[in-house]
Amino acid sequence: SPIVTYSDVEKRYGTDEDTVLAVEEFSADIEEGEFVSIVGPSGCGKSTLLHLTAGILDPTRGSVTVNGMNVQSSVYEKHNVGLVFQKPVLLEWRTILDNVLLPVEIMDENGVLTEDRSHYEERARELLSIVDLGGFEDAYPRELSGGMQQRASICRSLVYDPPILLMDEPFGALDKITRDQLNDELLSIWAATNKTVLFVTHNIQEAIYLSDRVIVLSDRPATALDTVSVDLARP
Ligand code: ADP
Ligand code: ADP
Repeated sequence: SPIVTYSDVEKRYGTDEDTVLAVEEFSADIEEGEFVSIVGPSGCGKSTLLHLTAGILDPTRGSVTVNGMNVQSSVYEKHNVGLVFQKPVLLEWRTILDNVLLPVEIMDENGVLTEDRSHYEERARELLSIVDLGGFEDAYPRELSGGMQQRASICRSLVYDPPILLMDEPFGALDKITRDQLNDELLSIWAATNKTVLFVTHNIQEAIYLSDRVIVLSDRPATALDTVSVDLARP
């Protein structure tokens, strides 16, 4: 059965008369281990869909379920998903390693850690070395380039091993060479860890390059216009 199911999802911002319809009648299934891109023009509701999936926003109608559990329900565990934003959001006063470990600290405070702290620190170091940041554990964000900071952000989203990775135009702010390189690193991470990835982009070429399947959204509000299975030309 699918790992994520959207059933007739609608999302409106605002209240009463003054509302913006961001997502309308969106239905889709995402299978475990799939790499799915969501494409559509700017403002069509892509970020909204990811935030609904992460449980940061609640749908106005319909439901989003992860592993059969409604993301709005009180028993749903938010650490099912890792979220990577458009820009790296690292805390400048923390080292790279401590930034990557931040979600672990928060989970620990909430009493939901499943392993001991040393396990996560080892995992953090391992992830940093996978994305070529071995040796930068004790550096501060300002000492790293934008691409390096975004790599560290990916490590942070993976450190607690969420089954689903949600990425909102994660490399959009970077130059094309860095972006292509990070896309390839992302594919290696995906292949090595068997995560389910939902990748938002407005770049159809990038979507086709990366994904098993591309969900194409209409201009506005977001409605699934078409779902395209991609015949992979992956390296
Ligand atoms: P995309 O990620 O495709 O650029 P968004 O999901 O960010 O699109 O936005 C979809 C629509 O919802 C846009 O019209 C946007 O202006 C509107 N919107 C997004 N966030 C808010 C908000 N917090 N309040 C009101 N309108 C919003
Ligand atoms: P070419 O041989 O023409 O460079 P590729 O087979 O390498 O084509 O790539 C096909 C398409 O995917 C091209 O449009 C290219 O821009 C894009 N592409 C190639 N590598 C990457 C990458 N690492 N990330 C995103 N898009 C890529």
